[in-house]
Amino acid sequence: MKEIDVMAIGELLIDFSPAGPSLNKRPTFEQNPGGAPANVVAALGKWGRATSMIARVGEDFFGEDLISTLKEHHVDCSLITKDKKIPTTLAFVNLDDNGNRSFRFYRKPGADLMLHKDNIEETGIKRCKIFHFGSVSLTGEPSREATWHAVELAKENAKIISFDPNVRELLWEDHDEMKEQIIRGLSVADLVKVSEEELHFLTGEDMLEKAMTLLSETYSIPLLIITLGAEGSSYRLYGKMGFIPGYKVRALDTTGAGDVFWGSVLYQLLGRAKLLELQETDIVQILQTANAVGALTTLKKGAIPSIPTIDEIDLFLRQ
Ligand code: ADP
Repeated sequence: MKEIDVMAIGELLIDFSPAGPSLNKRPTFEQNPGGAPANVVAALGKWGRATSMIARVGEDFFGEDLISTLKEHHVDCSLITKDKKIPTTLAFVNLDDNGNRSFRFYRKPGADLMLHKDNIEETGIKRCKIFHFGSVSLTGEPSREATWHAVELAKENAKIISFDPNVRELLWEDHDEMKEQIIRGLSVADLVKVSEEELHFLTGEDMLEKAMTLLSETYSIPLLIITLGAEGSSYRLYGKMGFIPGYKVRALDTTGAGDVFWGSVLYQLLGRAKLLELQETDIVQILQTANAVGALTTLKKGAIPSIPTIDEIDLFLRQ
């Protein structure tokens, strides 16, 4: 049976973002495939790694579109099931005057949150090296139970667990429940990526270094990476910390930069004989490249459409 480098589970939806007024002054929308874990595997698939996605879509045009987009990125979609009754999740992005994005769902819950425990195939999980998940599929049932079932199978089979909490407060009705779910994720993960805002939110600590120490020590996280937008990224690896500056680019849209950045971190870890046996110099190199990949992702609109090619990354790093 074919080995899978990275298997991901999570939300899979189409988002519609404002694309400016049309001729009759009505807003127009741009349609993009979405879902943070899907963006991560799409990037890895594009760069030639064997990937697989566990998700659920509706039996409709949007679900077909999501599957064909992932297939174009060489992601194995055999574990994506189709719901006969519930349509594919559609989210409309609302931009406020400060450019902050919020989501309005066409129908909630959509098919992606209908992922069921019975849809999880242990044999599939046994084939992967890294198992990646986020918190959106933990917002409700039955996908919460399905996600934990998959994570536990991965853990029992000694897979490396990668977690991006991807805190989306608006998607949760109960914020205590949200924290509880995220804490469970942090406690099982080997590799964790959080943004600076998420780090402060999760720890209640303003100082970056103190917050990193608090999070990684409280939940015994071997490798914690903090994304800092245009500033770059920071790491905490077995107690050692550092900051890697970002690259200056003319960013057009930062959607998906964090996911593609994380895809790059996983890609580079997969290139090593022992994925988690890292020296500080290794992680510095990994983040220099991931910062470049994140910066390149901001040059185009959308997440999956803006994943750079290996050649584009190499060229950028040589400049
Ligand atoms: P997240 O989705 O986790 O908040 P970020 O928006 O911080 O992710 O982006 C991830 C990474 O992409 C950053 O750590 C940085 O390396 C790169 N990046 C993001 N925005 C920019 C930008 N405006 N200019 C240059 N690099 C960027």
